[in-house]
Amino acid sequence: MDFDLTEEQRMFQDAVDGFAARHLADGALARAHQQGYPRDVAKMMSEQGLLGITMKEEDGGMGGTLMDAVIAIQTVAKHCPRSADVVQAGNFGAIRVLAEYGTEDQKKRYLAPILAGEKVISVAMSEPEAGSALTDLTTTATPDGDGVRLNGTKVFSTHSPEADVFLVYCRYGPGVNGIGSVLIEPDAPGVSKGKHVMYLGGEEWCQLYFEDAAVPAENVLLREGGFKRQIAGFNVERLGNSARAVALGRYAFEMAREHALERKQFGRPICEFQGLQWKFADMKLKLEAAQLLLYKAASAADAGFPSAEDTALAKLACNRAGHEVSSEAMQVLGAAGYSQDCLIEYCFRRTRGWMIAGGSSEIMMNRIAESIFERRFPQRPPKPSA
Ligand SMILES: Cc1cc2nc3c(=O)[nH]c(=O)nc-3n(C[C@H](O)[C@H](O)[C@H](O)COP(=O)(O)OP(=O)(O)OC[C@H]3O[C@@H](n4cnc5c(N)ncnc54)[C@H](O)[C@@H]3O)c2cc1C
Repeated sequence: MDFDLTEEQRMFQDAVDGFAARHLADGALARAHQQGYPRDVAKMMSEQGLLGITMKEEDGGMGGTLMDAVIAIQTVAKHCPRSADVVQAGNFGAIRVLAEYGTEDQKKRYLAPILAGEKVISVAMSEPEAGSALTDLTTTATPDGDGVRLNGTKVFSTHSPEADVFLVYCRYGPGVNGIGSVLIEPDAPGVSKGKHVMYLGGEEWCQLYFEDAAVPAENVLLREGGFKRQIAGFNVERLGNSARAVALGRYAFEMAREHALERKQFGRPICEFQGLQWKFADMKLKLEAAQLLLYKAASAADAGFPSAEDTALAKLACNRAGHEVSSEAMQVLGAAGYSQDCLIEYCFRRTRGWMIAGGSSEIMMNRIAESIFERRFPQRPPKPSA
């Protein structure tokens, strides 16, 4: 067992650190309050080789590991928290499912421009009546020639107002095995969007309506039986969420540490007050513990998908650490930390959302309990006996 990064990983980290310090650190505050997907950053990251890190070289990726992607996203977040979303979108999100299961033609039409920083993909899973109970989704894909017709409504999708393509979870038949997915563009006939709604974190989402939207066969990604494969891919998304959470917590922590060394009250630096020293010890403990669980999940997965249990433990720990540390760091800065010209309040808002997104903390705890007791705990009410 070795708790240090390898020589190669450290060199990669240094290279990303240099790039982010030079190109991203300066605009970090402005970017945090900017609406829309930062396409200029995506372009820069593509040129730097930071999109498609874990994807095969023949698909335009870098052939790296999940650990490399975790190192990249956290190193970028260290300099610009908002830019870490671009590393997420280009490595951890729906793109990973597309890269894994897409046809050569789908990869050419969608994966290549996403990796070039030209297009954005959004995953549309959640529905008004299917949030945590995702397998209750009712968006249907009914056969139409070689393709399908899509009918249903999706909510909450990250980047939904600006995405160039949606990866839509849909139902071909009953039960979990009836679920698969398709790719569809926002201007396809039968697709429309609702009004934009802003999350606390500052990002916007919009409802997506599919009314007899035609999906040609070449845009079907996974047919019946695809759900388990999609969710295995989605565990990568969860690690991207975890990695950003702990990185934003660390960002806030570092700011608070510097503030505590400089800020004087009652004639002495506030780091000399034991009440604050203990806060810092607690913050450090939370960040380090969460980081280790994240590394464990990512390194065990190597270039594949992380296990469900490792992912649930990492996500729960990182989400809690990220938000609790951002909150305590805000306290250390007082009113300055609560103000919008300080990135700590952004870290506080963003880390809150990740406790809900991508499988809430409660759902992660349910998954952990199943591993502890080595049995499934169905969450649905028992069926009435005949
Ligand atoms: C910032 C953000 C980004 C998102 N991005 C996307 C996206 O890109 N694509 C997408 O499809 N969706 C996205 N979502 C939606 C997200 O996946 C859902 O919000 C999440 O699955 C929870 O569903 P819900 O909001 O409907 O809450 P509900 O499922 O209604 O849950 C409400 C509460 O009940 C708890 N709860 C539910 N069931 C259980 C249970 N069995 N045991 C214990 N507690 C339970 C939940 O934890 C929660 O606290 C995003 C959400 C957020 C906040």
